[in-house]
Amino acid sequence: VGVSWLARGGCPSVLPAALMDAIILQERLVERLLSPRPQAPRSHPGRLKDHEKQYVGFATLPNQVHRKSVKKGFDFTLMVAGESGLGKSTLVNSLFLTDLYKDRKLLNAEERINQTVEIIKHTVDIEEKGVKLKLTIVDTPGFGDAVNNTECWKPITDYIDQQFEQYFRDESGLNRKNIQDNRVHCCLYFISPFGHGLRPVDVEFMKALHEKVNIVPLIAKADCLIPSEIRKLKERIREEIDKFGIKVYQFPECDSDEDEEFKQQDRELKESAPFAVIGSNTVVEAKGQRVRGRLYPWGIVEVENQAHCDFVKLRNMLIRTHMHDLKDVTCDVHYENYRAQCIQQMTSKLTQDNRIESPIPILPLPTPDTETEKLIKMKDEEVRALPACTSLVMELESK
Ligand code: GDP
Repeated sequence: VGVSWLARGGCPSVLPAALMDAIILQERLVERLLSPRPQAPRSHPGRLKDHEKQYVGFATLPNQVHRKSVKKGFDFTLMVAGESGLGKSTLVNSLFLTDLYKDRKLLNAEERINQTVEIIKHTVDIEEKGVKLKLTIVDTPGFGDAVNNTECWKPITDYIDQQFEQYFRDESGLNRKNIQDNRVHCCLYFISPFGHGLRPVDVEFMKALHEKVNIVPLIAKADCLIPSEIRKLKERIREEIDKFGIKVYQFPECDSDEDEEFKQQDRELKESAPFAVIGSNTVVEAKGQRVRGRLYPWGIVEVENQAHCDFVKLRNMLIRTHMHDLKDVTCDVHYENYRAQCIQQMTSKLTQDNRIESPIPILPLPTPDTETEKLIKMKDEEVRALPACTSLVMELESK
């Protein structure tokens, strides 16, 4: 009622006081509703919020890198080497929970007498929580199996060099954006648990490869030894590695600002090398739990039990903590060495041949046209005419 009166601009002359009060109240209410309300300062769409003014935004860089890397996916190439029957295939399957060796053909003793080392590549795409990993396993069947094992590591070093060469070519080519990296990032070298340390073939192999690839030595089939024997064998292997000047993969130093738990894990990892591992592709029941292990008449050896072997340490190192470092060392140290050697050889060959054939075309410098030449001459003369410059020009010319 009040609104219609107000709208018409009128008010009846006589009205009861209560009704008048009600009308005034109503009037104020309408007034408040229609008038623009005093508001809290609204954020302007183009304007930064106060907390956004505090930083430039490069703190998001890790997120950008993370998103890009996840989108692109990761790749990792792992080589396994060591005499046949030491449990290489079983361990690889246990590490990545795959069956990479379905079609493997095992050779009999006669076939192995003159066997040469083969290089077999298996590739699998693994996905975990949306992160894709292209895993390539380079197997080396036949290594150390023949009667004469002289230079049996040669096909393996050749393979590693070929991958470097391919990468070097691709890098110098036109399509650098889509280079496929087949360089070997790590080599798991299996040492027999039955010897008293390294055998000559182990020393030869590691010495031939240590400057080309990250070698991680492993004591195979650790369930064949009791803990004190494992400790002794580890010590012996460490001593021999030092004695023969073999450079196995060195775990990077732990940052001083890391938390105590991480530092402890890092210490344990370094002290455990060379890792004593056990592999198994069967799941058995131990203390009411289904675990990956080996069932013996006297008990169960659990692959993932840290009291039984170093399998978990190896897996953590390889996949969770050091995969990136292994790739970095491959690229920054081993590949860089190869590349430097290649460039040195190329340069010395060119100097020998006494001709410079640069792969980069040398473009002829543009010769100035006559107009430009005239202008340069004029400017030259102008400079000479300046008394302050004359002495300087003469001095420079005399030199
Ligand atoms: P590879 O020739 O080096 O690939 O060896 P395999 O993985 O084929 O294993 C050879 C044999 O050793 C198989 O019978 C495996 O079950 C067995 N084996 C594999 N790993 C272990 C292990 O850690 N301990 C024991 N005791 N046997 C193993």
